[in-house]
Amino acid sequence: MVATVKGMVDFKMKSIERKSLLYKSKVKYADFCLNHVEGCSHGCKYPCYAYMMKRRCGIIKTYEEWCQPKIVSNALELLDKEIPKYRNKIKYVHLCFSTDPFMYKQKQIGDLSLEIIDKLNANNIRCTLLTKGVFPKELYKINDFSENNEYGITLVSLDEKFREKFEPYSANFKDRIDSLYYLHKKGLKTWVNIEPYPTPNIIRQDLIRILEAVSFVDEISFGRLNYNLKSSKFKYRKEFYNSLAASVVKFCKKNKISCHIKQETSGHTIER
Ligand code: SF4
Repeated sequence: MVATVKGMVDFKMKSIERKSLLYKSKVKYADFCLNHVEGCSHGCKYPCYAYMMKRRCGIIKTYEEWCQPKIVSNALELLDKEIPKYRNKIKYVHLCFSTDPFMYKQKQIGDLSLEIIDKLNANNIRCTLLTKGVFPKELYKINDFSENNEYGITLVSLDEKFREKFEPYSANFKDRIDSLYYLHKKGLKTWVNIEPYPTPNIIRQDLIRILEAVSFVDEISFGRLNYNLKSSKFKYRKEFYNSLAASVVKFCKKNKISCHIKQETSGHTIER
């Protein structure tokens, strides 16, 4: 059986082989990255930048194909070859920029992500993780993984109707926040990525409520919504994002949380 966009249960996943895995990101605030899956079953419709790029390059043909992830079957072997090559250059490895390491209800992907984190940590390389899924229980065992890893969720709303429309197959917001809070309570470093934050012509909501729901985290990152036609037509877009960026900075200062405003979002600079 192969995956369908709807039945998001574990299934016999398709696989691909890659020639390389680790790469140095061109994104200013990032270091090394890896993507051990092609595609992403969360199927975000903001739109998803990774999906757009893969389509543009002809690697992925349709949305349905994107939503049927293919695992990189030789990911661990590639890591064995590449870790010695890059070890002295790596500050940390981010999972992932063009897929999700803990895709909702995709155990096979989550298990491979755990093996990858374990291998990197065993080589004294820390990881930063970002998901719209739920962090698995195994990560709660603090001694098995590096205490220096950083666990993050993306959270741009608390409205489930919005999530069903824009992130149709991701984990619901409450489960996402709960799994992050659990890691926080276990003493691990946590962060939240409030990006791509939608404009009021898409959804009217109170950013402070979202910030309060994750006020336990060590770091908050905030960024605007790009590549969305409706959002780009919002008349007060610049003023809106400038004002919200200032609110995020103020909230973080008050709650002693590190703050990272994406540079294109406002005039604020990165504070880490
Ligand atoms: S979770 Fe990330 S990679 Fe997956 S579809 Fe959404 S935006 Fe794209």
